[in-house]
Order: sequence, then structure tokens, then C-alpha cells
Amino acid sequence: MKRLKLLVSLIVTVLAFLRLSVPWYHAKNLAPSIEVHFLDVGQADSIFIQTSSGVNVLIDGGNNSDGERVVSYLKAQGVKRLDAVVATHPHEDHIGGLDRVLNEFPVDRVYMPNAVTTTRTYEDFLLAVKGAKARVIQAKAGVKLDVPGLEGVFLAPNGDYYEDLNNYSAVLKVTFGSVSFLFAGDAEFVSEAEMLKAGYDLRANVLKVGHHGSDSSTSSAFLAKVSPEYAVICVGAGNDFGHPSDTVLKRLSDARVKVYRTDRDGNIVMRSNGKQISVSLNSSATGYGEGPSREVTAAAASQLYSRNCDDAAASPNG
Ligand SMILES: [Zn+2]
Repeated sequence: MKRLKLLVSLIVTVLAFLRLSVPWYHAKNLAPSIEVHFLDVGQADSIFIQTSSGVNVLIDGGNNSDGERVVSYLKAQGVKRLDAVVATHPHEDHIGGLDRVLNEFPVDRVYMPNAVTTTRTYEDFLLAVKGAKARVIQAKAGVKLDVPGLEGVFLAPNGDYYEDLNNYSAVLKVTFGSVSFLFAGDAEFVSEAEMLKAGYDLRANVLKVGHHGSDSSTSSAFLAKVSPEYAVICVGAGNDFGHPSDTVLKRLSDARVKVYRTDRDGNIVMRSNGKQISVSLNSSATGYGEGPSREVTAAAASQLYSRNCDDAAASPNG
């Protein structure tokens, strides 16, 4: 009898312990994770990073006309504030929508390279940064992302002066567990060569391909060092620049890199537990490059491009 009593009390204790330990068990099973969203903003970049620990970081905000879309997307992800905004370089297709974002959400830090331009878009962006009272930090090679809970380091720009604004692009490498992402902005060969020369650890599981897949970026040497499993090209359907270039697409396929493109796949969401990466696509989200309204926007934007955005003259491929 005494033994039975002991056994019952033991069972009760064990059960109580199990009950008590259920939340602990679940908490342990809630492994840390990261999501990287490549938003379909047509011929432009906007990338949103969110971790299970509540870190929110935005890299670029699409064109001027994309501001509302980016804000809505962030709200749908439950964003109340942004730990950091990275403005890779001051071209409209990267900073255009950021003023709207900065006006909408509290932003702790804004990273941007020391590059200026004289457009109204850039002025709007600077005014929004000022209004947001965010800490402004110069993005350049070696600068670590000062965001608790997210490991990141800038690998470019490495120099102080470039002829092309694209080469001022802040290039950010984010590492989560054993998985890493390299966000190349619009960095071209000049910047890639500098990153190679500096001997950085460029390896990444995912490469956000530089400059919308233009043939002025993603050199063979650079691609070989990054050696990604996945590449994402942020690009608008039927754009005026011929992006992405066949040369770059071939280079990626020769290297057996799995390529996702916002013009075909819509929003691209990558999730990782720090070991594996899974990809989900949401092509119904937009309709860029399809509707007449977008064509009007693209036509209006192309005027800015011809002044700002570069490569039409430098590259026969747009
Ligand atoms: Zn661009």
C-alpha cells in the first residue's frame, strides 16, 4: 500500500511537471527564424527582413509610386516600427517610396552611403529622414548593422568617389545561423572588384543580384566567390533596360543557381531556421508590367531614369 501511495504521488509529480513544462517545451520548439521578403515593386528594389525575435529591417522602398504598396505590405506583416532602413543609393527606384515609409513608421536607424544627387526624390527622402529623427549612419564597407538580434555587415562601398551612383550602393551581408544573404543593391563591376580585392567572405546562400540583373553587374569572379544556391532578381516586366541580361542569366544557370525574379514570381518570401531555406511565391500580389496604369507610371519614371539611373549609355544591353 505504501508503495502504491508512493507511486501515485510520483505520477502526480511527474504529470504536474509535464504540465508545467509544456510552455517551456513549446518555447524551446519555437526555433528562431528569419523571413526575407523581396517585394514585387516592378523595376525597383524593396526587401523586408523580419526575425521571429521581432527585428524589422527594410532595404530600399521601390519607386515614388510604390510608397503606399510598401507601407501596406509592412503593415500586413505586423510592422509597428522599423529597427533600420537601408537606403542603398539615391536612385528613385530604391529610395522613391522610402519617404512614405519614414512618415508612417517610427524608424530607429537609417543607413545610407555618402552619395548625393539633386533630384526632388532625394530631397523628399532626406526631409523624411530628418522628420523621422532616426539615427543616420553612413553605410560603407566594414560597418556592422547595429541592430540587436540581427547580424549584418556592409561590404560596400569601399571607396569615397564613384562616377556612377550605382557603385555607391550599400551592399549588406546578413547572417542568420549558418545561412546568409547578400544584398547587392545596384553595385556594378567596379564595386564587385573592390569587394573581391578586399578579401571579404562573400559567400552567401542567397544573392540579391546587383542592379536588376544588368550585364554591368554579377561578374563571373564575383559570382564564383558568393557561390549562392539562390539568386533573386528584382526587376519589372518589359522594362526599358533589357534587365535582366541574358549574359547574367546564363552565368547564373551555368553556376546552377536557382533564380527567382519578381517580374515572374511576384513577391518572393524566403524563410529560414538558420539551417535550411524555404521559398514561397505570391505572384498574385501585384500586376506590375501588366496594367495600363503601370505603363503610365513607368513612362513617367523613365524620364527620371534617363537623368539618374545610368546604364543605358554605359551598356548596350540597358
Ligand atoms: Zn536600381
